[in-house]
Amino acid sequence: SKSAIVIGSGVGGLAAAIRLAKKGYVVSVFEANDYPGGKLTEVRLGKYRFDAGPSLLTLPEHITDLFDLHQIEVADYFQYNKLETTCEYFYPDGTRFTAWSDRAKIIKEFEEKLGEPKANVEASLEQSALLYNKLAPVFMEKSLHKSSTWLGGKAFQAFGKLSKFNFNKSMNQANEGLFKNEKTVQLFNRYATYNGSDPYQTPATFNIIPHLEFGLGAYFPEKGMHNITESLYQLAKKVGVQFHFNRPVKNIVVFEGQAKGVNTEMGFHKSDVVVSNMDMVATYKKLLKDQFQPKKLLSQPKSSSALIFYWGIKKDFKQLDLHNIFFSGNYKKEFEHIFKLGDIYDDPTVYINISSTQNPSDAPEGCQNWFTMINVPNNQGQNWDELIAKARKNIIKKLSEMLHEDIEALIEVEDILDPRTIESRTSSVGGALYGNSSNNKYAAFLRHPNFSKKIKHLYFCGGSVHPGGGIPLSILSAKIAIDNLK
Ligand code: FAD
Repeated sequence: SKSAIVIGSGVGGLAAAIRLAKKGYVVSVFEANDYPGGKLTEVRLGKYRFDAGPSLLTLPEHITDLFDLHQIEVADYFQYNKLETTCEYFYPDGTRFTAWSDRAKIIKEFEEKLGEPKANVEASLEQSALLYNKLAPVFMEKSLHKSSTWLGGKAFQAFGKLSKFNFNKSMNQANEGLFKNEKTVQLFNRYATYNGSDPYQTPATFNIIPHLEFGLGAYFPEKGMHNITESLYQLAKKVGVQFHFNRPVKNIVVFEGQAKGVNTEMGFHKSDVVVSNMDMVATYKKLLKDQFQPKKLLSQPKSSSALIFYWGIKKDFKQLDLHNIFFSGNYKKEFEHIFKLGDIYDDPTVYINISSTQNPSDAPEGCQNWFTMINVPNNQGQNWDELIAKARKNIIKKLSEMLHEDIEALIEVEDILDPRTIESRTSSVGGALYGNSSNNKYAAFLRHPNFSKKIKHLYFCGGSVHPGGGIPLSILSAKIAIDNLK
């Protein structure tokens, strides 16, 4: 039978391996780390457990599809629930807003808390749903780089209507044009951060993202986000995939325009197909040094990165939920610092994810596990030690004021993840969370395809290629790659 090598075991790599096994390939995954999952891993500090990276799950059907593919009962491995409240918002002036998943309830919340007329919210959610229904089948679920997608007509239809999809406006412009209250604008602008972009630059087409939460729902795995990695890893092993940890791939071997296998420190490993789940830029620069380099794609600006403080907190804050946002008083300035100045604004928007609100065993009794994150620029060689020390002070000051409590005194254990460590642990260039940024309207849609145009039998999956970053799209990238296998 035929053999396949997958480079990297991020969610995209795991999904590719599971799909290759279904096609009858003998599959080997080579992973540089001693654990699977890449960005989707976990951190343990004393009695606290944290999901290390992603905290929000949307479109869980792309995970369960992989179990269905092999007719394996998903519930034995992975269970998840829909959230009733998707986020608690705290504005600097003391305004509190609960994002209910129930449509009628959230519309009422917008009216009561933000004075936002019902009609505006409905118009925005309808626009978001329309964008999703028209664009998802074209941009997310297929290869944009195959003529059949284009000839299928759907892409033409979608592009024909792009003016309606606000391709030429920024997300912020569209939201300012629609909403009355600037707090509503800020709330909807936040969705740009879901793919590491700037709402003041990214095309308004990305107003597609709110539909994921408001229309399709936000979910949480019963055992936490890390269970996504664990369950896919178990599934992959069950269907025969072989894993080799601590085994970085040094280069992809290409002969006469065809991928023939890879080299690791153990020598040459031959295969009929090679799938790279390594960051696309890193794949070209490190594993394909002597091959054609797609210069334009390689030089695109990267998406933003993140600075995370994993804090064990000696108090149970009842007003906090699974997802919490403490907004900046000046969103525009915050994004200028991230995307123009390359540093961190003194009043950043702080996101706190507390999985112990769902799984009490993630923290000792009466305590909470705070995954405290701010969006930061990707790594361009800044003085991170200095930036992190300053950001830590500012975050603690902000949270202490907004929660009326001395937060510093409650921190029992601490660990930090920053753009440098994201980069060194996952090979993501600059520690970018979502590959190339979507701040420019062409870059947003024209990502690297899921196959190589120059090298036969070489495929790409993961958050740095088509259709995009985040768990669901990374998993979809593997589907597109393996469905198009020749
Ligand atoms: P990655 O996770 O990037 O993993 C790549 C793997 O390849 C790594 O294990 C790496 O070690 C391995 N590798 C690289 N080079 C080699 C080599 N040469 N040889 C062998 N192995 C190699 N997404 C969401 O959907 N929701 C969220 O809430 C969310 N929040 C996020 C928050 C943070 C802090 C971060 C970091 C990311 C977040 N994301 C979120 C994005 C999401 O984590 C990623 O899009 C997704 O996990 C990317 O998966 P991937 O398949 O691209 O692989």
